[in-house]
Amino acid sequence: MTSLFPALRDATADRPALRFGDRALTYAELAAAADTLAGRIAGYDRVAVWATPELETAVAVVAVLEAGVAAVPLNPKSGEKELGHILGDSAPGVLLAAPGAELPAAVRHLEHIEVEVHGTGGAAPESRALDGDPALVVYTSGTTGPPKGAVIPRRAVAATLDALADAWQWTGDDVLVHALPLFHVHGLVIGILGPLRRGGSVRHLGRFGTDGVARELNAGATMLFGVPTMYHRIAETLERDPELVKALAGARLLVSGSAALPVHDHERIAAATGRRVVERYGMTETLMNTGVRADGDPRPGTVGPPLPGVELRLVEEDGSAIPSYDGETVGEIQVRGPNLFTEYLNRPDATAAAFTADGWFRTGDMAVRDADGYVRIVGRKATDLIKSGGYKIGAGEIENALLEHPGVREAAVTGEPDPDLGERIVAWIVPADPESPPELEELADHVARRLAPHKRPRVLHRLAALPRNDMGKIMKRALRA
Ligand code: ATP
Ligand code: MG
Repeated sequence: MTSLFPALRDATADRPALRFGDRALTYAELAAAADTLAGRIAGYDRVAVWATPELETAVAVVAVLEAGVAAVPLNPKSGEKELGHILGDSAPGVLLAAPGAELPAAVRHLEHIEVEVHGTGGAAPESRALDGDPALVVYTSGTTGPPKGAVIPRRAVAATLDALADAWQWTGDDVLVHALPLFHVHGLVIGILGPLRRGGSVRHLGRFGTDGVARELNAGATMLFGVPTMYHRIAETLERDPELVKALAGARLLVSGSAALPVHDHERIAAATGRRVVERYGMTETLMNTGVRADGDPRPGTVGPPLPGVELRLVEEDGSAIPSYDGETVGEIQVRGPNLFTEYLNRPDATAAAFTADGWFRTGDMAVRDADGYVRIVGRKATDLIKSGGYKIGAGEIENALLEHPGVREAAVTGEPDPDLGERIVAWIVPADPESPPELEELADHVARRLAPHKRPRVLHRLAALPRNDMGKIMKRALRA
C-alpha cells in the first residue's frame, strides 16, 4: 500500500499541517521530519510512542506509518502497572518520545529515540507495507475490563477516514480544533491522521478549555471534535460567554463521540448557538461505525446511520438478526466492514469470542434503530442494560431524563439484584447544589413522568463526582465496586 498521507508529497506542501501551541509544521516540514525518523525505525516491527499532547507525538506516528511499521501509542498518565502490562504485551522494539520527556521506570529499560520535529528528510526507505499490515496497536479504554491491544490494519485507517471524509464533506480547507489525548482512536486516528489524510490542518490546544476553543474557531478553524464532557463544559459556559456562542455558531462542524452526548447538553447548545452537534459512534476495534452526515439531520440521542462501507445489524440474544427498524426492539450492534481490527494482540480467546462464525464483530453495545436507519444506543450489554420486572431497560434514557432535572448536574444509572424485580434501577447523581440535593422520591417521579413508571430509580446515591476515565467516560465498574 502506498502512503496513507498523499498530501505530504503533493505540490502544495507548504500549507499548514499541524500546530501545537506556538509550534507548527507545514506539510513539507512534516514530511522532512517524518522521513528522517522513518529512516531510523524502518527495521522494527512495533514502535511505542510516548503520546503526550505535543507535536512530537504526531510526527512520531506519521513517521511510523510512513515507515510501514506499527505504532503503539502509550498513555503517559498510565500507572506503572498498566504500562508494564502494555509493554509486556506489545513488546515494542523501541520507544519514541519528545526530547526531555519524563519517562517512568516502567519504560526506561526500552531503547529510546528522541523525536526531532525538524528533519532533513530524504532518508526514508520505501515502505512495502500492505493493506492488511498493522498500522497501530491501540489499547481499549479499559471501561469494562483490563485494556486489550486492538491490532488495527492500514486498510481500516484508510477506510474509516475516507468514510468520514465523505460523511462530513471533509476537505483540505478544514482546520480542526483538537484538545483530546493522542493515545486513543478518537484523538489520534480521527483527530490527527484524519486531517492529514485530507490535506487539512490541526490546531491542538494541549489541554481543553472553552477559551481556546472560542479563540481558534473565531480565528478561522472550521471543526471541533470532542467528547461529551467537553460539550458539557461548553453548554455550561455558553450563557456567560458571547465569544463562545459566536465561535460555535460559526463552525462548520461540531462532532461528539467516545460516549453518549446527553440530550440536555445537545439541546442547550442548539438553543444558544443554533448549531446541532453531530454524533458519531466508534470503538478502538472498529474505528468509526456510524455518524450523522454534515448535511444530515442530527437528532439528540442518536449516533446516525452506518457510515459508507460499514454493514451494521442488531441481533437478539439467540443470535438472530432483528429485521425491523421500529425504534423499539433492542439488540446488540454487530458490524462488518473494512474498518475492523484484525485481532486482540496475544488474545486468541478474546478475538475468537468477539466475532461470529460469519465474521460479524460483536460490539457489546445495545441499540434500537429508527425507520431511516438512525442508531440509538441504549447502553453497553455488560453494564447498561437493566433487566427489571420483565423489561429490558437502557441506562442511557434514564440518565438523560435525570439530567433534565434542575437539581442534577451529572447522572449515571446501574442495576443491582432485587428479589422481586430481578434487578432494580440505581441512580448515582452529582447534585447541582450539594446543600439541597434532590430526594429519591422526587427524581423517581420525574423519571416516571418522562419515560414510564417501570423506569423509576429505586435507589439513589449522591456523590461529589462520578468516576471517569481520561476520555470522560463514566467508569460503572468503579461505581458498583
Ligand atoms: P473497554 O473495551 O476496554 O472496556 P471502551 O469500550 O470504553 O473500553 P473504547 O474502544 O475507547 O473503549 O470505546 C468504545 C465504546 O465507547 C463503544 O463500545 C461505546 O460503548 C462507546 N461509545 C463510543 N461512541 C459513542 C457514542 N457516540 N455514544 C454512545 N457510546 C459511545
Ligand atoms: Mg470496548
